[in-house]
Amino acid sequence: MKYSPIRNYINGKFVAASTSKTMEVISPLDGNLLSTVPLSTAKDLDDAVKSAKSVFTAWSKTPIKERVQVFFKYKTLLERDLKQLAELCSEENGKTYGESVAEIEKCIELTEFATSLPQLVTGEILEVSKGVECRTEHVPLGVVASIVPFNFPAMVPNWTIPNAIALGNCMIIKPSEKVPLCCGKLAELLKEAGLPDGVFNIVHGDVEIVEAICDHPGIEAVSFVGSTKVAKIVYQRATQNYKRALALGGAKNHLMVLPDAIPGMTAQNVAASMSGCAGQRCMAASAMIGVGNVDSIIDKICEEARKIIPGENLGAVISKESKDRIEQYISEAERDGAKILVDGRNTKVKGKENGTYVGPTVIDYVTPQMSVAKEEIFGPVISIMRTNTVDEALAIENANPYGNAASVFTQNGGMARYIIDRASAGMIGVNVGVPVPREPFSFGGWNESKFGVGDITGKSSIEFWTKLKKSTTKWNAEAGVNWMS
Ligand code: NAD
Repeated sequence: MKYSPIRNYINGKFVAASTSKTMEVISPLDGNLLSTVPLSTAKDLDDAVKSAKSVFTAWSKTPIKERVQVFFKYKTLLERDLKQLAELCSEENGKTYGESVAEIEKCIELTEFATSLPQLVTGEILEVSKGVECRTEHVPLGVVASIVPFNFPAMVPNWTIPNAIALGNCMIIKPSEKVPLCCGKLAELLKEAGLPDGVFNIVHGDVEIVEAICDHPGIEAVSFVGSTKVAKIVYQRATQNYKRALALGGAKNHLMVLPDAIPGMTAQNVAASMSGCAGQRCMAASAMIGVGNVDSIIDKICEEARKIIPGENLGAVISKESKDRIEQYISEAERDGAKILVDGRNTKVKGKENGTYVGPTVIDYVTPQMSVAKEEIFGPVISIMRTNTVDEALAIENANPYGNAASVFTQNGGMARYIIDRASAGMIGVNVGVPVPREPFSFGGWNESKFGVGDITGKSSIEFWTKLKKSTTKWNAEAGVNWMS
């Protein structure tokens, strides 16, 4: 085992969980055992809540300009340890080293946003009638929790950690049991940056901890990122317990390619979007709709896909179960009459035979009824459908229950606007394959890709991580008082 067994992080210390139940953490790159992760109990969560609660008053009363100093320092530490963090991220998740570097760079950008929060939470004040002032303040909630998925072991935790904590909350994070290593390193960096013990805590585990988070009376708000199935469970359970909740779910993102799209650029973008991070991005292109004759662009997409080599510029998928599931989707589409133009099944990487790789896969002549057209595959697979009109393409996109992202490739500005206005997704790209809004713009989908109000990053997160205090003040005019008498 490469690393020592993982422990929880409570009150500034790495501590053993109150259980001997553990899971193995396997690197998807080569199947090697990296560590073990404890499947903590509700008691461990309770310890973390107590630790967070005990420092909440002191942390929330620290002026925000002082609180963000921790994140100025944290940013420089992320930069200092970028290589080490990227290696860890790649090892536990299976993505390429380059993709992991990009992930840590995104953590830095997210942290930069948090350092700007003092400029954004100034509140409002107005003399509403003679001598009477109304004023609003953003007040932290208390102890909050963040439950995260496997596909971005460092970035998704940093969607919530810097903003929630800079805004004065104390946090408990529940990492994915599949990729628990990066969060431990983030804890070390936060401590080195000067974050007081107890403000940030990690409780590892699976379903039991998630349920305990939703039920714990000491937790005020829960953010969740993961599959739609679990997002619904968490949103329902947390709100039933009267907590504030925001739950981001899965996705099925459609790219619409119009005949006037620039062929080379479009092909590169489609191939990169469907295969980046081995297709395990909630913003990945998963379905492409060719409007009219786009055969020559599809040929180029296949050429681009063939340049993507597993183990070189394509990472592994998270597990053997995941690889099997993705390959079953491809086989089912083939059985149903689709044409596999580039086939990533049965991929083995020399010297890494126990790694879980799926090659880039392009499936053509998919119909909207097939599972590969409707369901989230979460692998490096693009399912191509064809329509005669933009409205038919939009009807397919609109019928999908998800709504994270949609993109259009065209040179026609009017047509792009028509699609922006009608696509049923929270994040839209025009000639952009992965339309993730950069900071300070917020991230969040629609429909079954998100439950709750507002987005998880950017200015929108201020509303989620704080409550508004409204005060109305009136003072009698004292101008006539002679203090010298
Ligand atoms: P997942 O839903 O299986 O797991 C997410 C978290 O929930 C993990 O911490 C896990 O331990 C916990 N969990 C799993 N099953 C649970 C259950 N039955 N009850 C309670 N908790 C449970 O998701 P994943 O496989 O880790 O991540 C991939 C999914 O996340 C994809 O669907 C992807 O689209 C989605 N995702 C969405 C976004 C977004 O912004 N919308 C971002 C990243 C990932």
